[in-house]
Amino acid sequence: MASKALPPALERLIADLSMLPGIGEKTATRLALSILRWPESRARELGEAITQLHSRIKLCTTCFTFSEDDPCAICGDPRRDHTIICVVEDPGDIIAIEKSGIFRGTYHVLHGAISPMDGIGPEDVKAKELIRRIEESKRAGGTEVKEVIIATSSTAPGEATASYLSDIIEKSGVKVSRIACGIPVGMDIKYADPHTLKQAISQRIALCESS
Ligand SMILES: [Zn+2]
Repeated sequence: MASKALPPALERLIADLSMLPGIGEKTATRLALSILRWPESRARELGEAITQLHSRIKLCTTCFTFSEDDPCAICGDPRRDHTIICVVEDPGDIIAIEKSGIFRGTYHVLHGAISPMDGIGPEDVKAKELIRRIEESKRAGGTEVKEVIIATSSTAPGEATASYLSDIIEKSGVKVSRIACGIPVGMDIKYADPHTLKQAISQRIALCESS
């Protein structure tokens, strides 16, 4: 807890900021003090930006990434290749892959990874939404999904997710591949550098080919 020497309003902000990933009490205190030194209008703008996160940003009903529009900019872009879906754990992974510039398909965000040890099953991530999306693409009028690239992290949950999804998608006759090369074991996709990701995607390994 923050020191009792601080005014309660400042202590509250420090406690809130400390809940952010990678922010300890020391950093939170430094951040809170710099916000306090800002002109009031600027601090108010920061507060508004945080408030608007929930009121303006929703999930794209196709790929489930965070977006102000539905469909999101990628799902709604006719220049993207809608026959390929790259499956990621978090919206942050999309940002990393987009930076690599190699992928021109669409995405599907799981919002997590399957981890039986932590009690996280397929129903706790957007897995059935992916299967439904693939199935629906086969109906007349839509763009049929031909390939799914699984870009979950090379952690135990990421691997469990990849194997679960590939088993199911294989049955629907869609080509499934897994990015692997160059991504070190335990690596979170969003922290991989663009060059590594570029290689990982271009040298993806087929888990199963459609027959
Ligand atoms: Zn989308």
